[in-house]
Amino acid sequence: MRKLSAHYIFSGKEKPLKNGILVLDDDGKVVELIDRQGSNKEVSGLEFHPGIITPGFINTHCHLELSYLKNGISRGNGLAAFLGEVKQQWSDDAELIQSAARKADKLMQRNGIVAVGDVTNTVNALEVKRKSLLKYHTFCEAFGILKERAERAFSKALDIREAYIQHGLKATIIPHSLYAVSDELLEMIDKVQEDTCSLHYMESREEIEVMSTGEGPLRRHYENTIGLELSGWQHPGISHAHRLNKWIGVDKKLLLVHNTFMNDNALNELKKDRSTDNTWLTLCPKSNIHIEQQLPDIPLLMRSGFPLCLGTDSFASNDGLSILDEMRLIQQQYPETALVDMITWATVNGAEALGFEEQGSFEPGKRPGVNLISGANLKELKLTSNSRVNVLA
Ligand SMILES: [Zn+2]
Repeated sequence: MRKLSAHYIFSGKEKPLKNGILVLDDDGKVVELIDRQGSNKEVSGLEFHPGIITPGFINTHCHLELSYLKNGISRGNGLAAFLGEVKQQWSDDAELIQSAARKADKLMQRNGIVAVGDVTNTVNALEVKRKSLLKYHTFCEAFGILKERAERAFSKALDIREAYIQHGLKATIIPHSLYAVSDELLEMIDKVQEDTCSLHYMESREEIEVMSTGEGPLRRHYENTIGLELSGWQHPGISHAHRLNKWIGVDKKLLLVHNTFMNDNALNELKKDRSTDNTWLTLCPKSNIHIEQQLPDIPLLMRSGFPLCLGTDSFASNDGLSILDEMRLIQQQYPETALVDMITWATVNGAEALGFEEQGSFEPGKRPGVNLISGANLKELKLTSNSRVNVLA
């Protein structure tokens, strides 16, 4: 049994508890969370830590298998250029991929992450995930804009999912996005989708252009970099929200990732069809700066009522895999954002979106992991450049 205390405990659900006590059993299961109303009376066997205690973080968007691309992709050139460079540097070297994925997995553990929503196109990181102490929800991604290739893309994703399931790992099939997937492929995916669906959403100006006009840098990427013959291809010609509503069941849990170019209109359209009870918006701020040099309008997204989550994206578009660093960047750009809100996004919201029932909050019976944020400004409850995360349990 351990009794942990700190200046504040952010439970993920309730308001921060000043000098609260978190009681854990020997397996790290929450026995009790005690609100001491600020009292710091001596208690026997209490471990007091200066700082803020939070549940373990949930990283709702990563691509572990791309970890080998660390420091390899140029910054700030937009999505088509980014995808082109990823393709150029694509490797099938299993040892290189696994060794980078293993390091990334360990780094996430040290950074207080306990569970991950991880997108995959291969089985290259399967072994790393199987042996990991982190929990993974693997999203087997299918993409392809040509209808004649839909069947093949779908059956490849099915094979990957099957391999994961055979090893007892949680895996579902998802579309990469709405702009890079044909109607035929979206239909096939929706038919087998039973769990949370997750897709890249309004990440770039370029995807909005190619969806509405069929033109721009992404079209040139399809034709010149991938070598697709597009004479028979018809661009969707409808908005993201319309296409979403057409192909993804409104009753299904949905995690929309990035939302960098969401505006009032796009949110209102989304709200017409989707409920705030089963739709989450993930922010990957450092990746957005790397690829697009732009952040989402986070205050606008907060006002929408859709619950927010956080993700690191992969080492292809980030120099670290740290939820604390993502929060620090948000606070720099939007200083009015409350730390308690960001911790809710990083814990309970992510756990609910991905179905990690044991994680995300300090409710009795859960085993959420325990982080300590030190070096914060405790008067104003803000992160500072000295803030660090340490894993306590
Ligand atoms: Zn991604």
